[in-house]
Amino acid sequence: MSPSNEPSFRQSVDLMFTRAVALMDLPPGLEEKIRVCNATYTVRFGVRLRGEVKTFTGYRSVHSEHMEPVKGGIRFSMGVNQDEVEALAALMTYKCALVETPFGGSKGGLCIDPREYDAEELEKITRRFAYELCKRDLINPAQNVPAPDMGTGEREMAWIADQYRRMNTTDINAAACVTGKPPHAGGIAGRVEATGRGVQYALQAYFRYPEDVAKSGLTGTLDGKRVIVQGLGNVGYHAAKFLSDEDGCLITGVIERDGAVTNEAGLDIDALHAHIRETGGVKDFPGGEFVSHGAHVLENPCDILIPAALEGVINLDNAARISAPLIIEAANGPVTAGADEILRKKGTVIIPDMYANAGGVTVSYFEWVKNLSHIRFGRMQRRQEEASHVLLLDELKRLSADSQLNWQLSDGFTKKYLKGAGELELVRSGLDDTMRGAYDSMREVWHSRNDVEDLRVAAYLVSIARVATSYQSKAL
Ligand code: GLU
Repeated sequence: MSPSNEPSFRQSVDLMFTRAVALMDLPPGLEEKIRVCNATYTVRFGVRLRGEVKTFTGYRSVHSEHMEPVKGGIRFSMGVNQDEVEALAALMTYKCALVETPFGGSKGGLCIDPREYDAEELEKITRRFAYELCKRDLINPAQNVPAPDMGTGEREMAWIADQYRRMNTTDINAAACVTGKPPHAGGIAGRVEATGRGVQYALQAYFRYPEDVAKSGLTGTLDGKRVIVQGLGNVGYHAAKFLSDEDGCLITGVIERDGAVTNEAGLDIDALHAHIRETGGVKDFPGGEFVSHGAHVLENPCDILIPAALEGVINLDNAARISAPLIIEAANGPVTAGADEILRKKGTVIIPDMYANAGGVTVSYFEWVKNLSHIRFGRMQRRQEEASHVLLLDELKRLSADSQLNWQLSDGFTKKYLKGAGELELVRSGLDDTMRGAYDSMREVWHSRNDVEDLRVAAYLVSIARVATSYQSKAL
C-alpha cells in the first residue's frame, strides 16, 4: 500500500515505539525485551479442494506474554505476511495494556482471498488452520485466544471454537478459546458492533474536552461534523452508522475498493451498506456522487477522517495533502511513521489505532469472562433491579397522591427507568467506561508533559509503562 521508500509496517510500529521509549526511563535492556516479538509460527498446510491439493500459508505471532492468554484477531487476506502479523501482534500488546484488558498481544493470519471460496470450502480451510494452531496451543482459553479481524467474522470463529472443542472434549472452558463467536455459540451481545461502537465512544471522549478539540482547530460537539470514512466493512460501517444516527455527524464521503461516493448533505449509511452488499461496490449508488479514484477522497476537506480498513493508506505520498484536521485510526496502522511525522508538523490531531479501535478487544474480554463464568451478564440482577425500580416508582406515586401534588411521571421515563440492564446494555456500559478511562489516561500524559506532542506518544507511554511494570515483577 505505502510507497517503497517507506519502512515496513513492523518497522513503522517500531519507529513509533522508539519515539515513545526515548521519553522513558526504563531499566537497562527492558526496552528491547518489550519491543521484540516473542515468537512467530508459520504453518503451511494442504487442503483437498476442487480435485487438487491446495497449499495455504498461515501465521500466529505472539508479541508479548507479560500477561496470558495472549489476544488478537486472525485475518484472512492476500496481504498477510510475517511482517504484517508481527506489527499487528505488537499493536495488540499496547492496545490491551492501554484499555486494561488482562492479555498479552498476538495476531494471526492466513494468506487467502476469502471471496474466492464458498462457505463449505472456507469451513474446511478454517478448520484445518485451526487444527494446526490448536495442536501447538496457539489456540487455547488459557494461553492464546484469537478473534475476528479483516476477512473473518462470527462464522469463522464458530468453526474455530468447534474445532478446538473436538480436539479438547473435556475442557469445560472450551468456549473461551476464541472470541467474536455468534450468540448461539457462546458469543456476547454487542461484539459485532464493538469496534465501530468503540470508535464512536473514542470520539465522544475526545469531544468531551473543548481544549483537546481546540488542538485540532475544531470547535463544538460532534453534531454536524463532516466525516469521511475509508472502508465500509464491519468497523467502518458501525462507526459511520452510530456517528450519523446518534451524534448528528454527516458522512460526506465513503471510500471503498471500487472507488468512492460523496455527498455534502450526508450519505445514507444503511442504504449505502445495502448497495455494497448487493453490487459489491459503491458505483451507481443513487444517494451520492461516484468518484472512480477513491483514494483522492481521503484528501477532501472534512472535519474528521476515519481510515477503517487497511494499513498504510495515509503515507508519504499523500500525507501532505490530507486536509482533515482530525484523524481517528479505526484500522490498525493506517498512517505510516513517515506520514505521522508530516501530519504532526501540520498540526493534525491523530487519535491513535491502539486506542481508537480497542473496542473490539474490550468486548472480546467481556466475552471471554462470560465464557469462563458460564453465565450471561445481567442474568442474576436484571429482574431484581426492575423490581426495586418498581418499588421506588410506586412509592413516588403514593407520595405524590398523598401530598396532592399530582406529579405525573412521563411514559418515556417510566419505561426507560423500569427496564433493567440486559447483556447488550451492560456491554455498552463497560465499553463506554473503558474508552473514557483509557482516553483520560492518555490525555493526562498529553497535557502534563511538555515533551509529549501527540496522543500517539501519550498512548505508547501509558501502555509501555504498564507492560514494563508487569515485566518487573516477573521472571523473564
Ligand atoms: N482483531 C481485533 C483487533 O485488532 C480484535 C482482537 C480481539 O478481539 O482479540 O483489535
